[in-house]
Amino acid sequence: MPLEGGCSCGEVRYRLASEPLITHCCHCLNCQQQTGSAFVINLLIEASRLELLAVEPRPVDVPRDEGKTQRIYRCPTCGVAVFSEYGGPAIKFVRGGTLDGGAQVEPDVHIYTRSKIPWVALPESVPAFEAFYELPAVWPPESLDRLEAAMAPHR
Ligand SMILES: [Zn+2]
Ligand SMILES: [Zn+2]
Repeated sequence: MPLEGGCSCGEVRYRLASEPLITHCCHCLNCQQQTGSAFVINLLIEASRLELLAVEPRPVDVPRDEGKTQRIYRCPTCGVAVFSEYGGPAIKFVRGGTLDGGAQVEPDVHIYTRSKIPWVALPESVPAFEAFYELPAVWPPESLDRLEAAMAPHR
């Protein structure tokens, strides 16, 4: 069953045409601020595998601590953020909480745990990193191949 989701008002709807490359749970301060919550769950997927089924979300560039911007795509009507881009359009970071029925996915990796809220307890079985990580240490080989294919036209 492909994963589907959307914004609160229903104008923006999407479908993941493939399994995500990887699912991040990010505990960084930027994600906490943007979501107003303890962390964000991001499903990483190739742009070509994220099908927009209704209204096009609107991009908004948001500054991040490291001096870069993150492009967040929001519903033009209700303003809910459905996915974002870090540094380029090839890979979308779909916000897990916008999936139908909620974030029914388990993160493959926890990142930026140095700013994790203390009462959030992480499972021992899932890799966790103080900041970011080297992709081959965590990603399945198929996902690395898919990433390579997705990035090739952008190099
Ligand atoms: Zn909406
Ligand atoms: Zn983050």
